[in-house]
Amino acid sequence: MNSILEVEDRIKTLKKEDEDSFRIINNIFHVSSATGSMKIPSTYKTKVMELFGKKDDQGKIIESKNEVIERIENQKVVKTYNKWTGSGSLFNSLRASRPGIKQEEMEDIRKKADEYIKASEEGCEFCNPEKYTPEDVFGRVKGKYGITGSNIAKYDAWSSVIFFKRHNPLEFSFEELSDYIDTGFKWFKKVHNYDKNFEYPFFLWNCLQKAGASQVHSHAQILMTNDIHYAKPQFLRKAFREYMKWTGKNYFRDLYKSHKALELALDSDVEGFASITPIKEKEFIIITRKSPSESESIKKEIYRVLRCYIDELGVTSFNLVISCPAFGEPSFPYIIQIVDRGSIFKTTVDTGAMELYGSSVISDDPYNVIKAVNEYKA
Ligand SMILES: [Zn+2]
Repeated sequence: MNSILEVEDRIKTLKKEDEDSFRIINNIFHVSSATGSMKIPSTYKTKVMELFGKKDDQGKIIESKNEVIERIENQKVVKTYNKWTGSGSLFNSLRASRPGIKQEEMEDIRKKADEYIKASEEGCEFCNPEKYTPEDVFGRVKGKYGITGSNIAKYDAWSSVIFFKRHNPLEFSFEELSDYIDTGFKWFKKVHNYDKNFEYPFFLWNCLQKAGASQVHSHAQILMTNDIHYAKPQFLRKAFREYMKWTGKNYFRDLYKSHKALELALDSDVEGFASITPIKEKEFIIITRKSPSESESIKKEIYRVLRCYIDELGVTSFNLVISCPAFGEPSFPYIIQIVDRGSIFKTTVDTGAMELYGSSVISDDPYNVIKAVNEYKA
């Protein structure tokens, strides 16, 4: 089975078999690994065996004690770094080899999540946005499954919310998701027509509190900014320009080609992939020159990734962003990023000092993520 732990060997193989891809990967990434070692005292070995021994469906450990101790005493870490964006991740063999979620665990997670969400429905103001939320100066944009309103505590001059009709953010059909995106893009046009100085659109969805949402009720946020884009999309423009200057090529094309060569890309014509430098668990990136609002195939892949994450991988909290080119900006693509933000039932946060100021420490193997998405029938 493919694993991020063998990605260096895979890159070496490409050097012989596909030199062009090898060169592109090396233009963008630095990939290395190291093994950390430790000694487990004999008094602690039984405990380690219980904690880390691989188990069968009945919970019986299927490895010998020596195998478990050897695995724990020598841990391989793969380090990935994107030379243009400065993003980087650490993958530990111990974390990456965790078993997947079983069907009954999956059902239990969804049941608990639905109960938690249901309990917040009473008195929910977002269930009645026209009564309990402010509107923009030009009024509201009404979709079939959602309606916009102004954000009461604005991030920026133009900062609004799409209140989805459904309370439960983990439940949505393709038509609903498609409508949420269309409503956001209609709002972008409306703002731009109202004030031509505001030309950089940004669509974001914080699903549940773990992902930064203030309310349980399903909603996305829409922003338009002037002068320059938000910090991270703006920095990507710099990376794009520099890459073009040094290599004469399109950074986003090559970023996709790298992941495709590494067998981390979607099995469709849409340019999407499980990132090898994920900001956090299961980061998925889709790049498109076409507006997602005008492309059924892009929307379908966004839907497939989200539904696979929720229904197959047990994701209960996620962020989704659509970073857009400015109105009339010719060469820059739309970039869609999706990331799992961890279980809503755990109080620990997924970002520590390493993620903020070092490299992202990652448990989920991108090879497991792409396998799940490609096998998922939405
Ligand atoms: Zn509600």
